[in-house]
Amino acid sequence: EILHKKGLYTDLKLIQEGKEGVGISSSGCHGFCEMGPLVRIEPEGYLYVKVKAEDVEEIVESTVLRKQPVKRLLFKDSAEKKEFLKEEEIPFYRRQTRLVLKNCGKIDAEDIRDYIVCGGYKALAKVLMKMTPEEVCDEILKSGLRGRGGAGFPTGKKWKQVLMQDADIKYVVCNGDEGDPGAFMDRSVMEGDPHQMLEGMIIAGYASGAREGYIYVRGEYPLAVKRLQVAIQQAHEWGFLGKNILGSNFDFDIHINKGAGAFVCGEGSALTQSIEGFRGMPRPRPPRTVEKGLFGKPTVLNNVETFANVPLIISNGADWYLSIGTPGSPGTKIFALTGNINNTGLIEVPMGITLRQIIFDIGAGIRNGKKFKAVQIGGPSGGCLTEEHLDISMDFDSLEAAGAMVGSGGLVVLDEDSCMVEVARFFMDFTQRESCGKCVPCREGTKRMLEILEKIVSGNANIKDLQLLEELAEVVKIGSLCGLGKTAPNPVLTTMKYFKDEYMAHVVEKR
Ligand code: SF4
Repeated sequence: EILHKKGLYTDLKLIQEGKEGVGISSSGCHGFCEMGPLVRIEPEGYLYVKVKAEDVEEIVESTVLRKQPVKRLLFKDSAEKKEFLKEEEIPFYRRQTRLVLKNCGKIDAEDIRDYIVCGGYKALAKVLMKMTPEEVCDEILKSGLRGRGGAGFPTGKKWKQVLMQDADIKYVVCNGDEGDPGAFMDRSVMEGDPHQMLEGMIIAGYASGAREGYIYVRGEYPLAVKRLQVAIQQAHEWGFLGKNILGSNFDFDIHINKGAGAFVCGEGSALTQSIEGFRGMPRPRPPRTVEKGLFGKPTVLNNVETFANVPLIISNGADWYLSIGTPGSPGTKIFALTGNINNTGLIEVPMGITLRQIIFDIGAGIRNGKKFKAVQIGGPSGGCLTEEHLDISMDFDSLEAAGAMVGSGGLVVLDEDSCMVEVARFFMDFTQRESCGKCVPCREGTKRMLEILEKIVSGNANIKDLQLLEELAEVVKIGSLCGLGKTAPNPVLTTMKYFKDEYMAHVVEKR
């Protein structure tokens, strides 16, 4: 309405007819949630922060018609000596290594041409024209890419295991069922740059001998579902999906399955059950998914971020990828930074960065000048890291050695006022509700653990309850069937390890 009032047009046809116009594209997440809503102006690279609807008229008047920035909306940083900072100069962005997220917030996620202009589908053309499936598996294996969904299994090894299976039908499945509280990494990739992930899936299909792929995406992500649908349709129209892709003899198609909000469906075997139309419940392994996965066929199952890394590796080579991150965990990792931190948002950093750099350089420290206390990493399956871990290398192996895990990448930062027992209770409440109930240690154990934690928080527990809580945690960890149950006690065990005094204080207070 405002553009029309000013005699400007967004309709390409009218612009081509000589009318004055302006292009508006709807991007995905820019990552800097703390400063949203954000508006990026091209080609100047201005980033307007905390924009309100009533600012639009001034943006059109000043930026579009007079080519002048609206100074009050630009990002300023008192530490920098400049009048304002462009997006790339803002410390939140400057200290990141945005590879997977490089297009997010910059391209129109619903226009395949934007992705192609940025080099999209070049990697697919390369594998179809120049590489055998074995060579693709070897390149991914050589790059050291490890699954970004949490387990960190070598992706190339998984693909090769599927390629080696003697089966008439094979599948590629993308896990986009991101259910951790505080995690929104996969959502941003699916909404902001869906073709990058699709390209990775198509390459995985070629490398493993699959002809069909499924994306299992959270039903609570309607925009991601819509953009994936648009992307799949456009990929068909441009010859990147369907029969004889880019003139080769390789056929591949992708379907979308919407989840119904069950956290357990993020577990591989529950996810494939759900796609097959059954209730999403994990099954014992073996057989592994690479041998008998979806519909009982060999299946490559990776998450969104893992697939989105693939075109980058194929285009730039495994050696380039190995030059980023650490030798055991090459590449970058996307983390969702939330909690009591100044700069909440979505960040992508090289593996091996320290927690201190993430929290104090990119995150700009703790809110309201409070003291850092801990960070819950990896959601309800992860553990907490404390001040003594601030200089730990953020990679798969170092975090595991510290009793935590990269997990899917949720980082919930807690300040000095946070009660760690309450944090443990919160996550136990979540996993207890999400337990599918198939096995007793998880179904009953998490419920009893939650009861004890509630007793402690309300000041009605005694020292024996603490012992029982610890014993139960071990039983649930050892006896549960799937990852949900096996990792459910982690928040309790790590908070008990590092903040025993807080548990004791709740018990002592009662006396
Ligand atoms: Fe279900 Fe929990 Fe057992 Fe997993 S561990 S199968 S979620 S009851």
